Amino acid sequence: MNSHALNLTHAGALLNGNSACPLCGERSSQIIASKDGKTNEPLITVSCSQCGLGRIDPLPSDQELAEWYAKQYRQAYKSAVQPALRHILRAGRNALWRWQWLCQNTSGLEPTANSQAKSSLDIGSSSGEFVYLLQGLGFEAKGIEPHEGYATYARNSLGISINNGTLQHCLSSEQPSSLDLISMFHVLEHLPEPVAALRVIGEKLKPEGFLYIEVPNAMRLCSPHYMFFKAHTLYFTGITLRNLLESSGFKIVSHSPDSSDNLSVVAQYVSAQGTSLIGEKSHPLVTAQKARRWGPYLLQQLQEGQPLRKWRVRQEEKHTAKQYANGQVLLNDLYEKKSQQMPTS
Ligand SMILES: [Zn+2]
Repeated sequence: MNSHALNLTHAGALLNGNSACPLCGERSSQIIASKDGKTNEPLITVSCSQCGLGRIDPLPSDQELAEWYAKQYRQAYKSAVQPALRHILRAGRNALWRWQWLCQNTSGLEPTANSQAKSSLDIGSSSGEFVYLLQGLGFEAKGIEPHEGYATYARNSLGISINNGTLQHCLSSEQPSSLDLISMFHVLEHLPEPVAALRVIGEKLKPEGFLYIEVPNAMRLCSPHYMFFKAHTLYFTGITLRNLLESSGFKIVSHSPDSSDNLSVVAQYVSAQGTSLIGEKSHPLVTAQKARRWGPYLLQQLQEGQPLRKWRVRQEEKHTAKQYANGQVLLNDLYEKKSQQMPTS
């Protein structure tokens, strides 16, 4: 990071970036933020002047990123991972919600009594709740998880197939055109070379297969300092997310509203040639960051009763989770109850 960049602390300042935009190749950008929201250390986040994609500048290499994660993981988890039941409950509910959204936005994925088993791969499977749900629904379901502790927990506690390693490494062992569904929840925003990764992913999908992505919406309302931190290399609006997919050879099947807190999109791989880009040159990420102020943010949180609502949610999760002996029993009960209300084809 150059010293010139560090002196430009205000959102909207122009910057000729240290690295090129990984979506369109442009170097010219505007600064969104100049500090890491978690550590307060210098960290430049910019909005591309050509396509509007947000990124940290300079972008780390795959190698640097792998080393950074390894260090974080060593600090955070010295031994085996045992997720709290409350977290498993929340992740299980998210998995159900995601599956329902997928069913409402695609056709032909839900297994039926006489159809052949569908194959799925969840990239960044964490403690495995989505893989476990799909396995229960009849998929040949697998996951990829770089964190050894989570991968081991999911394998041993849920009996699911999880490959421990990086995306690039694990995908290389998948057959081309072999998968009906690849999912990535809160993974794409961590990648330094998203186009290359998406093309590899596309090659692994069957022609009618679906890629299902969820990322945080960088336009969402949050506190002024919360948004930008080192673990996230990329920042999306609904438009830049769809631009990235289309530039990587996908066609969009369906997507959530651009005002959602998390952006969901489902897409199919159509060709190695990407379609040309429609830029988002008005820097919406800079505008959104300038509008984030502590006073209005806290006032709005209070007016909407957010602190109380969050407290109630936590209490309910604790209360519900403690009825179960372990994560698998909890998920079995959660998924069993919900499957009676789920759409069937
Ligand atoms: Zn760009």
